Amino acid sequence: MLFSELGLDNRIVQALENQKFTETTPIQREAIPYAAHGRDILGCAKTGSGKTLAFVIPIIARLISQKAMTKRDPRAMILAPTRELAKQVFQVTRDMARALNLKTALIVGGDNYNDQAKVLRKDPHILVGTPGRIADHLSDRSFFLNGLEVLVYDEADRMLDLGFNEQLLAIHRQADHRKRQTLLFSATLDDPKLRHLLDSLLNNPQEIMLDASYELHADITQTLFFADHVEHKQDLLKHELETRQYNQAIVFVATKADADRLSSWLQQTKMNCVALHGDLLQNQRANVINAFGNGQHDIMVCTDLGARGLDLRKVNLVINFDLPKHVEEFVHRVGRTGRAGEKGSAISFIGPRDWQSYRALSKHITQELPVQAHPALPGKFKGKTAKKKISTDQTKTFKKKPSSKAPKAHTKRVDNTSGTDIGHVPIKRKPRPEAED
Ligand code: ADP
Ligand code: MG
Repeated sequence: MLFSELGLDNRIVQALENQKFTETTPIQREAIPYAAHGRDILGCAKTGSGKTLAFVIPIIARLISQKAMTKRDPRAMILAPTRELAKQVFQVTRDMARALNLKTALIVGGDNYNDQAKVLRKDPHILVGTPGRIADHLSDRSFFLNGLEVLVYDEADRMLDLGFNEQLLAIHRQADHRKRQTLLFSATLDDPKLRHLLDSLLNNPQEIMLDASYELHADITQTLFFADHVEHKQDLLKHELETRQYNQAIVFVATKADADRLSSWLQQTKMNCVALHGDLLQNQRANVINAFGNGQHDIMVCTDLGARGLDLRKVNLVINFDLPKHVEEFVHRVGRTGRAGEKGSAISFIGPRDWQSYRALSKHITQELPVQAHPALPGKFKGKTAKKKISTDQTKTFKKKPSSKAPKAHTKRVDNTSGTDIGHVPIKRKPRPEAED
């Protein structure tokens, strides 16, 4: 379906065409008509499927068709979990808004606070930002939300999980009036534990659940290798980066220190590599993303700071040096490739410390995720057997023999298509380390 068939104002269709967007993606053709009519949206669609325009277009449509409720307050606000993602969403928003003479502003942590206050005094129509900094400006009364018509939560589950709840609630309360519309998007919204939070933010939403997180992206090839220890992982990494054909690669690691260490090590091996994590200063973070986005580096090593939303179209290889603790983050990490119909590859190294995460992942994902010994650099680790339960109750032990058949390292069940078991992933949720601002 074409954008011109969605009943949008011609100026919007023209602005899209000028940016070479003519055909809608599935989430866009499903969500835009409801959202443009003022309905709240709970939208779940795979990574790289065009969710940004699915909320930017209805914002613009509403703003140009309706009268503002107040003279000065922002009319729409888009929240994103990281500064990098907020900036990217801002660019998409600005490109559309400019064509319709709407003013936009980016409000993220790390940028100069007073400069932002000045920009806010110019009464932008649309704000894009991270919840922490926006909440700061709200509490300092740099702006008000009485006139807010549309509030968007991009990567909503991540923000709710990052410990932003207080700021999000403060924002929600200040804009809690009858006319407010809320649009909420992510590729991973099927965790039942999210439900009550989503319910409290949304008002009778149209639910558009196109892709479930337990079905991995079909355009991304998954390869998993056993690894014995960190040194073995480094050998595997070097080998893969030296022998594979790729344009650009992102390597995900567990900690900020690992990102620095691994990036320096790759540089020593003469690879063109850069590190991204939350301990860098804001201008360093911006420089890294700009330089990598411009193709100045082949490889970016990063923490989960880079897992969400980033649209770096030349990236066709993602390597999980460690598995993330949460299934959702795996989906988003590998989703940095295979965007907008492109193909991509994801490689994951599975060592003894990754085993529990691997088990949780393969339990959640419906697709087979076999782990193999690396053909050129095999190690010893072949997966862990499940620990036998030591029972003090002899009768029980006799009655029920502990299974000698350990869950196989490289096979998995494929029967879970209900998606309801995400709540049983045997890994406890804990606050993530990289909350913004
Ligand atoms: P998501 O938020 O779902 O991960 P994005 O909104 O970042 O995806 O979009 C992914 C890529 O697809 C971007 O490069 C964007 O420009 C492109 N894209 C979005 N909509 C369309 C469309 N209708 N036609 C072609 N490309 C599109
Ligand atoms: Mg996105």
